[in-house]
Amino acid sequence: MPFQLGDSVDPERILVVEDDDALRGALAHTLGTICQDVRTASTLAEAFREAAQAHPDIIILDLGLPDGDGTDLVNRLRMVTDVPVIVLSGRDSEDDKVALLDAGADDFITKPCGAAELLARVRGQLRRSAASHAARSWARTNINGVEIDLVSQRVVRNGEQQRLTPTEWALLRALILQGGRPVSPKQLWDMVWAREFGDYSTHVRVHITHLRRKIEPNPQVPSIIITEPGVGYRFNGPQ
Ligand code: CA
Repeated sequence: MPFQLGDSVDPERILVVEDDDALRGALAHTLGTICQDVRTASTLAEAFREAAQAHPDIIILDLGLPDGDGTDLVNRLRMVTDVPVIVLSGRDSEDDKVALLDAGADDFITKPCGAAELLARVRGQLRRSAASHAARSWARTNINGVEIDLVSQRVVRNGEQQRLTPTEWALLRALILQGGRPVSPKQLWDMVWAREFGDYSTHVRVHITHLRRKIEPNPQVPSIIITEPGVGYRFNGPQ
């Protein structure tokens, strides 16, 4: 099922690894429009140190550096961090890309690239990493005494297993995969029902009510699926 994630999350810290001074400056300038703290490195040794110490949210990695190249760079970065790595590549051979993906790169940008594409790729990776982080940490969780297990599709409240319909599972999964960010009824409609037409606000509200009756310790006072007035709903996962 295609999940469309909601509003973009901007990164707190980005690491740009590029040995060409002009290009490094241009990348840092562009990324500075969405991030307060853009770190730069011009060698793999520097990149390593920054990745390990500064904990960037995403790394933009040039392949041709003075002290390393290609898949070796990605492999070595993967030893110190699992953050998204977008490779900046002058090449566009499919074989190179496959090898880099195998080594652990998350995406590619072929040089030269425009500012809009760079920002869109960065935001795309951040949304994916937020979602997979939330999915990893909340796929099996216990909130206010309610056990929720997305993997084996099990909800246990007060020792009793609850039966959720496929739509209720899809709704719950969509909320959890947003990583605690609010989701509008229209976004939930698109994610869960994937239909163009219909009275989505009533539809979503009715299913949220049904879901709350099954998973909330007290459905009258929801503590797991929270209503954000004027916005929508959010999953209140363990902090
Ligand atoms: Ca280079």
